[in-house]
Amino acid sequence: MMKIEHIGIAVKDLDAANAVYAKLLGKPHYKSEEVESEAVNTSFFQTGESKIELLSATSEQSAIHKFLEKKGEGIHHIAFAVQDIFAEVERLKEAGFQPISEQPKQGADNKLVFFFHPKSANGVLIELCQEIG
Ligand code: ZN
Repeated sequence: MMKIEHIGIAVKDLDAANAVYAKLLGKPHYKSEEVESEAVNTSFFQTGESKIELLSATSEQSAIHKFLEKKGEGIHHIAFAVQDIFAEVERLKEAGFQPISEQPKQGADNKLVFFFHPKSANGVLIELCQEIG
């Protein structure tokens, strides 16, 4: 694990949340991106070495929609940057963390991503991400 790459925050209204976080951080988001496979819209803010990722649902099938229904707005996941996502996934599986999918897949922000279930990390959804490229 290299650093906290970003913190993901589930929001109901992405435009409204963009305005709040622009005010909070003193600068606007630098990127918006839809991830169709996850049915989410995202936007990114740079904060030093790390980022804030705001996520809103584009359909009721979205995991973000379900999260908002269950818990309301708030921190959704913490993402750690890794150098070799396949090796880290294997290491964490062997250490007993519960994977959510089979393989790393393309996520937002030009990254390969993989998630571990919150149950195995004290209630926090864990994302690993590796820059593609
Ligand atoms: Zn993320």
